[in-house]
Amino acid sequence: MAENTPSTTPTEETKGLNFVEQIVADDLKAGKNGGRLNTRFPPEPNGYLHIGHAKAICMDFGVAEKFGGTCNLRFDDTNPVKEDVEYVDSIREDIHWLGFDWGNREYYASDYFPQLYDLAIRLIKEGKAYVDDQTSEEIAAQKGTPTTPGTNSPYRDRSVEENLDLFQRMNAGEFPEGSHVLRAKIDMASSNMHFRDPIMYRIIHHPHHRTGNRWHVYPMYDFAHGQSDYFEGVTHSICTLEFVPHRPLYDYFVDELADETYRPRQIEFNRLNLTYTVMSKRKLLQLVKEGLVAGWDDPRMPTISGMRRRGFTPRSIRNFIDTIGYTKYEALNSVALLEYAVREDLNKIATRGMAVMDPVKVVITNYPEGQTEMVEMENNPENPEEGTHKMPFSREIYIERADFMENPPKKYFRLAPDGEVRLKGAYIIKCTGVKKDADGNIEEIYCTFDPETRSGLPGSMRKVKGTLHWVSAQHAVDATVRLYDRLFNVENPAAETERDFREMLNPDSLKVVDGVKVEPFIAENAGQGTKFQFQRIGYFTPDYDSTPDHLIFNRTISLKDSWEKEQKK
Ligand code: ATP
Ligand code: MG
Repeated sequence: MAENTPSTTPTEETKGLNFVEQIVADDLKAGKNGGRLNTRFPPEPNGYLHIGHAKAICMDFGVAEKFGGTCNLRFDDTNPVKEDVEYVDSIREDIHWLGFDWGNREYYASDYFPQLYDLAIRLIKEGKAYVDDQTSEEIAAQKGTPTTPGTNSPYRDRSVEENLDLFQRMNAGEFPEGSHVLRAKIDMASSNMHFRDPIMYRIIHHPHHRTGNRWHVYPMYDFAHGQSDYFEGVTHSICTLEFVPHRPLYDYFVDELADETYRPRQIEFNRLNLTYTVMSKRKLLQLVKEGLVAGWDDPRMPTISGMRRRGFTPRSIRNFIDTIGYTKYEALNSVALLEYAVREDLNKIATRGMAVMDPVKVVITNYPEGQTEMVEMENNPENPEEGTHKMPFSREIYIERADFMENPPKKYFRLAPDGEVRLKGAYIIKCTGVKKDADGNIEEIYCTFDPETRSGLPGSMRKVKGTLHWVSAQHAVDATVRLYDRLFNVENPAAETERDFREMLNPDSLKVVDGVKVEPFIAENAGQGTKFQFQRIGYFTPDYDSTPDHLIFNRTISLKDSWEKEQKK
């Protein structure tokens, strides 16, 4: 790993750089690759991007931006069985949403299939590659272990002519899948397992989403990646730590192409792993296919599209990634850190409004029947420039059922018989009685209001301990709210190798609440993408399913002192 450790001690201009940026700064300073910087982000279009990919995107595009280089988007489409244009489209959308752009540098590994094939032919001719007729099980059994050498394949010393003939026929579709592979002839005794005659090509008959039925052999990652970097002019090929042992093979194949004026180099950083989350695309696909979530963009998914639908902002994701940083050590990051970043950003930008999740009616008996007055509400106390909006107040309002107690304990500051509370932005009210149904449930609460305490009047300065959110009953609009919790109830599902990850799904990860009462201003502004703070409850955004006739909000995240916790008190 020595060559990937920064060579210089930090100077004034390089202080504060992460280790990858430091390496890039050193290379640029040394004039490597003619002073060029070109990175790439190489997703395989076999699933939607998740927050782990966001970390790689921020690195690949971020370092290019920082040092005036460019970043390519390269679809690593070497396995047609699992890939699809649906994924290509979603990947493009998600990168743009995060705030990055690849200009006209959109490439596909499949664009290089002809060059890769030519290189394979050349390596065969040079005696550096051979066709193996063994099954994958036989090949695996000959691999050896890290401490014992492998065994040479019986096909290892085939003639060049025979290898050329077989490889061409493999690609012509003459052989079934699994019957032959092309292997690099390197060293079955190498201490690096990846050097033990790695597979370069396998046969796949499934049509490719871009090249159709043109190819019947497809390159393996290790044979495709470095060369694709080289063909594209990539200088720094940044990836995650599991590729460290692949690096010598990356260099081995690049050596076949590169000259002293230019060669790409691989640098590895630690993956993002999050608590209460699975990040494997295979598992995420399984959740989607088996209907365990509503789709790739289900707001509980760790996908970028899920987070977008849930109401996370690109800035909150990028801030979170900045916070955790890049290292050379695997770690498990707390999802609470991500949630913190989301709250921080939404607190700055979300429009404040009132919504009552579990309404109980309050009748203000000394307020004139049929009268409505408008009170003024701040749109965002964090940003006075956002102004105010008007909210109707009338004789009948809703408050949260949990904000009233008939027999309160000491230090209960919300509404109780003979007690006073402030209705946020309006008046102080005093409870004078309740009406119950036959089962003893409270149906209505009766109060009087003090007209001198209207918000803005001197009387409003009067001290009361509790302030409640509320909505005018007659003006409120009904809405459905989807409350999300963590999708898994185990801190590190990936570590529980004995258990099926689906057993660890949190059965309460989605709760749907109907009959939520929202103030008219919220209903009128419930366009896609709007970010709200429902006062005292949390941050919400309209779901894609929301329509003017049936408003549906996703709870993005609760406030720190959340409504649910208060309910449990
Ligand atoms: P697969 O198992 O399908 O290869 P993958 O998550 O590695 O899954 P890719 O599409 O190959 O998916 O990933 C594209 C890029 O994103 C790679 O450079 C990879 O290293 C990076 N990446 C993937 N997962 C993470 C993660 N959790 N943290 C940081 N980077 C990641
Ligand atoms: Mg990968």
